Amino acid sequence: MADLVFQDNRLLFTEEMRKEYTILVPQMAPYHFEYFVDAFTSEGYNAELLKTTDYELIHEGMKYSHNDICVPAMLVIGQFIDAIKKKGIEAHKVALIITQTGGGCRASNYIALLRKALEKAGYPYVPVISLNAGSLEKNPGFKITPRLLHKLHDAMLFGDLMMTLVNQTRPYEVQKNSTNQLMIEINQELRTYFQHKSLFTWGRHKKKSKEIINRFKNIPVNKETLKPKVGIVGEIYVKYSPLGNNHLEETLEKEGCEVVTPPLYDFFIYSFDSRAYDIKRYGGPKKERLALKMAIWYIEVRRQKIRKMLKDHAFESGIPYKTIRSLVEGIIDLGTHIGEGWLLTAEMIDLIHHGAPNIVCTQPFGCLPNHIAGKGMFKKLKKHYPESNIVAIDYDTSASKVNQLNRINLMVSNAFRQLEEKNHDSKV
Ligand code: SF4
Repeated sequence: MADLVFQDNRLLFTEEMRKEYTILVPQMAPYHFEYFVDAFTSEGYNAELLKTTDYELIHEGMKYSHNDICVPAMLVIGQFIDAIKKKGIEAHKVALIITQTGGGCRASNYIALLRKALEKAGYPYVPVISLNAGSLEKNPGFKITPRLLHKLHDAMLFGDLMMTLVNQTRPYEVQKNSTNQLMIEINQELRTYFQHKSLFTWGRHKKKSKEIINRFKNIPVNKETLKPKVGIVGEIYVKYSPLGNNHLEETLEKEGCEVVTPPLYDFFIYSFDSRAYDIKRYGGPKKERLALKMAIWYIEVRRQKIRKMLKDHAFESGIPYKTIRSLVEGIIDLGTHIGEGWLLTAEMIDLIHHGAPNIVCTQPFGCLPNHIAGKGMFKKLKKHYPESNIVAIDYDTSASKVNQLNRINLMVSNAFRQLEEKNHDSKV
């Protein structure tokens, strides 16, 4: 067992632990997190993605945390503790990693809640690593080097690309499972891709992305009968995580829909932009604002290349961040950036503009910021876009899958009716 080193009452992840420990990563976004783990592994960490998706895990989280905390926190804590208990991993050789945005919402404190829960569960010696873009918490055994940062950036781009391609191809595939099969092949190849030692990967990434798009384009599809497009928006964890949203993407596809999920990168750019906005409005280091603006510019230049490639191959490509930002003008203030804030409203508008007025807005029970920017905006959106067909689904500790399904089915049947009417009108 490695020596336990504390700093300000916090157990550190040391250099010694880096060599011996396995870092457990909670699953949040299935298309992206697999690549994040590949990036960590390629830089010498033993990292493992937790893939459990049984909603019952929430009870494990509830046992060791206050019943007042957010559903995503309970699920993440439950998933970690369940893994330590059941996976047969030596608990003295395990560390946990969790993202910390530093924003105004309770999510910034998940890390403290997790440490408390570990103590209560009898694992006070398990270190928790904060994955953050700023200087919130540091650990001697875990460093975001420029190369790791670039790899995480590429991982995010690949994740968004794969999510887009899979969602636009799988509902129409002629041969069942051909999309999933290709995804498995590509995921294996990307494991090798991340093994490189270069710092800048622009050319390499562009080449691989182009090849991936080409391979998806070659999957035989039948688009004679179009399916209603259904968008998924909401709180970041329940929006992407099958554990958090009871396999929403799969459910909607089984109901005959084409799922549209906004890119994960938008949320991160929005977080950088929100910090830059605060510095401008309330004061703060000008240099930090400039750095944030430059990061956004760089990410957007890279994303624009991918959007162009997607468009060239007749895939829906998404829109630039600055266009998304402009969509909420006169609807919700850009200062509303606790939780998903104005981005949630903007994503709904973008979906409506792009042929997906049918939307599931996923909301953890009691999540105030998202109730304001999500459910709280429905009336305004209905006024501006009468065709919008939005349903809010609550995810709570005792979530009944039947209730969720009933509400989703009602929205889906409206979506089919609207699509039929549209088809009928275009033939007349
Ligand atoms: S956004 Fe909602 S679920 Fe997430 S930390 Fe804030 S209140 Fe909790």
